[in-house]
Amino acid sequence: MTNDVKNVHNVHKANDTGIAHKAYDLSHLTVLISGASVAGPALALNLLRHGAQVTVVERAPELRGGGFAVDFRGHVHRKVLTEMGIWDEIHARQTHMGRQMVVDADGAPKVDLPSEMMSGDVEIFRGELARLMYERTRDRAEYVFGDSVATLTDTPHGVDVTFDNGPARRFDLVIGADGLHSRTRSLVFGEDSGHLRFLDHYVAGFDVPNHLGLDRTGRVYSEPGRAIAIGNYDGDPDRAGALLVFRSERLSYDRRDVAAQKRILADRFAGTGWEGPNVLKALETADDLYFDAIAQIHVDRLTRGRVALLGDAGYGATMGGMGTGVAVVGAYVLAGELALAGGDHRTAFAAYESRISAFAKGCQKTSGNAGPFFAPATERRIRSRDRMYRLLSSRPLAAFFKRLTEKSATNIKLPEYPA
Ligand SMILES: Cc1cc2nc3c(=O)[nH]c(=O)nc-3n(C[C@H](O)[C@H](O)[C@H](O)COP(=O)(O)OP(=O)(O)OC[C@H]3O[C@@H](n4cnc5c(N)ncnc54)[C@H](O)[C@@H]3O)c2cc1C
Repeated sequence: MTNDVKNVHNVHKANDTGIAHKAYDLSHLTVLISGASVAGPALALNLLRHGAQVTVVERAPELRGGGFAVDFRGHVHRKVLTEMGIWDEIHARQTHMGRQMVVDADGAPKVDLPSEMMSGDVEIFRGELARLMYERTRDRAEYVFGDSVATLTDTPHGVDVTFDNGPARRFDLVIGADGLHSRTRSLVFGEDSGHLRFLDHYVAGFDVPNHLGLDRTGRVYSEPGRAIAIGNYDGDPDRAGALLVFRSERLSYDRRDVAAQKRILADRFAGTGWEGPNVLKALETADDLYFDAIAQIHVDRLTRGRVALLGDAGYGATMGGMGTGVAVVGAYVLAGELALAGGDHRTAFAAYESRISAFAKGCQKTSGNAGPFFAPATERRIRSRDRMYRLLSSRPLAAFFKRLTEKSATNIKLPEYPA
């Protein structure tokens, strides 16, 4: 191992100067990933490229569908997805979302939203993205559904893990890709309260009938402190997706109690104009509800010992923060650094932290306004938002806007990792 580590430093240096490198084999490395949404399967895919032995544990009984479309933008996302071998498939399955506009209570258009802002370069449903990566990895990685890490004990020889249901096991490394409310983070870095910054809004998403007859277009309707967006992303004439955003103090509810979450939404959206009554009716029978705080995760360190955080668990940005793009880049960098370091987690984790932290923070900064953007607090703020977006959708400003949103998504220098 000592020799390996020494070599790794040389190889690493050579890489940064662009000199060809040697590919490293991770077949000796056992890695447990907690969470099978976007970050987890993305890391599995990247680690399998280097031969690692990967186990993914997901609390849900099966791969979770649902969620709005997520987007990728700029050359960094493109490079990472290309290296992962899924760029073409994402393109093939992209939503082709067209015009989105802000409407008034009668559904009359008020403002066009710049498509660069809403859809990036390519957009795909979160559930489809997760499935695509799951399907590419499930034969070579071990997926365990319906279970969760219960305790983690870091030892010099590995991490001893107990589970809620399955037998205890030891892994060389454990990666927390279990989202905003990560149990891995709580177990290793302490309880949520200090890390989760609540941004005064909640977001919900679920399927609704396509009452409006939308065809790859979307509408956003805002009242002070609450908003409903409806979009038809895939041309399905019968189905659309509803996104509900509301301003709120921090709520206390059971995150696994879907009925309680539906009650909160029914209460908050009672009396909403436009499609409000239809959306609430569809909510009653929705079986794919996503409901969460709009919040960000800020931790001092992404790694401790043999455990690292990835995606929303470590640097969650929720809506508008390119959380999906950052998670995928994070997975690529973490696996790449482990490969460069021949599996030595001390070297790899240090490099992962230094490459990803500033990048993720930059993306978090651009996302701070997703709540107030959808649901401005007052009528006056709704009017000034509309004025601003009227300006932004003019052609010269739209180009400027595109550059602005791409800036944080591309603000990272990626080394060439062994393929
Ligand atoms: C069903 C679903 C719908 C979503 N819809 C939207 C949306 O409409 N808009 C939006 O902005 N973002 C949405 N997101 C969040 C979005 O996917 C993430 O912000 C982003 O893609 C980063 O992904 P992630 O994998 O880091 O975290 P997440 O996507 O949050 O995934 C975390 C995964 O870990 C699992 N998990 C949680 N706790 C445990 C545990 N203790 N043990 C094992 N597994 C655990 C979860 O079930 C989930 O599959 C959704 C997430 C999910 C899971």
